[in-house]
Amino acid sequence: MVKKIESLYTKRNDGRAFDEIRPIKVELGVIPSAEGSAMFQTGDTRAIAAVRGPRTFHPQHMQNPETGILRVNYGMMPFSVWERIRPGPSRRSEEISKVSEWALSSVIDLSGFPNTVVDVFVQIPQADAGTRVAGLNAAAIALAHAGIPMKEMLSAIAVGKIDKTLVVDINKEEEDFKEGEGSTDIPMAITSRKKDIALLQLDGKISPDKLKEAIKMGKKACEKILELQVKVLKEINNKVENE
Ligand code: ADP
Repeated sequence: MVKKIESLYTKRNDGRAFDEIRPIKVELGVIPSAEGSAMFQTGDTRAIAAVRGPRTFHPQHMQNPETGILRVNYGMMPFSVWERIRPGPSRRSEEISKVSEWALSSVIDLSGFPNTVVDVFVQIPQADAGTRVAGLNAAAIALAHAGIPMKEMLSAIAVGKIDKTLVVDINKEEEDFKEGEGSTDIPMAITSRKKDIALLQLDGKISPDKLKEAIKMGKKACEKILELQVKVLKEINNKVENE
């Protein structure tokens, strides 16, 4: 049952239901020269991920004789938003690379590849919020496509709280909502089998009860994303959409 709340955000700017994800497109093998690659698009947010490796990790002192190491490099293209972004790494891109690395490391198993590194390159050619979660969805598919052993798949979504209303797959205009309680962005990633939370971030304010509700909504949305991720890995023409 939906509890009645008085919120300043009663209708979504793009007409979606509060628990509705944007139209999704997934494509496999978008970068033929990489060992594995995928494109994941939700609405106007698009992420491309490419996997290279496992290959011997240099410099040697960085190697781990017990296991291979995952490295993620996230970047937004300069023309991905209307105001051009300065190219190259930033504090934001380094943070997103790190949290993506941690989330993805929890679902892959590189114990069979000691002393190696697997590189995942995530690029955002088009951004309308939720780029880190789109990047994670693309990266998880690309890792599977590259044949990297995986314990589970990983699906990610950003839930938002706009004033008092929880919404799934928040877009940029919603993220910029300033009235009432304003906007809270809650990106999360859920593993496919154990339903563990591999990533949970919070940008803004939310009560513990509301956060629990947001996680529940996010987990449900991740089920839909997982379906598409699995489908594209089985599809012959390497493309799927949710419509
Ligand atoms: P996420 O992309 O995971 O939601 P953030 O919360 O840091 O991460 O960013 C929110 C959104 O703000 C991005 O998806 C993008 O649409 C936009 N954005 C991020 N960085 C910039 C920037 N330097 N210039 C303009 N817009 C940006």
